[in-house]
Amino acid sequence: MGKTSTVPSPTNAESLLRGADLRVTRPRLAVLTAVHQRPHADTEAIISAVRTEIAAVSHQAVYNVLRALTDAGLVRRIQPAGSVARYEVRVGDNHHHVVCRSCGAIADVDCAVSETPCLTASDDNGYAIDEAEVVYWGRCPTCAAASPKPEATGTAPERGTT
Ligand SMILES: [Zn+2]
Ligand SMILES: [Zn+2]
Repeated sequence: MGKTSTVPSPTNAESLLRGADLRVTRPRLAVLTAVHQRPHADTEAIISAVRTEIAAVSHQAVYNVLRALTDAGLVRRIQPAGSVARYEVRVGDNHHHVVCRSCGAIADVDCAVSETPCLTASDDNGYAIDEAEVVYWGRCPTCAAASPKPEATGTAPERGTT
């Protein structure tokens, strides 16, 4: 947990949509607000949040809105290995994520060095790089407190097959 970004008022979400040249619709407002309120939520969580606002909204409608918002750059989609896609509204700062191996909790990590130095690859191979995906893996404070460290046997840690 750290500071949480301020939850946008509906008018704020509205101006974000307008600023991105997107038509303001109820599903878009509801999805944008849901993602604001639940950083790194997955699609299921976003759908249930949106349904508290618009009971009849379909899965497909929410998927479509998420895609439109992501394409417009209002929402960032992240997908750590082994995880479903997660969404957040903290876009454009190329921040990183730390993921708990036990429960899948995700937290934001600012760029380790400064603004976005990891976008400056040591050798870009001629690519125009616009994103560097860095994922830190470990255990969140809750999981670390709940169980002692797994013994380091030197072999790959066994991961429960859920
Ligand atoms: Zn955890
Ligand atoms: Zn994030």
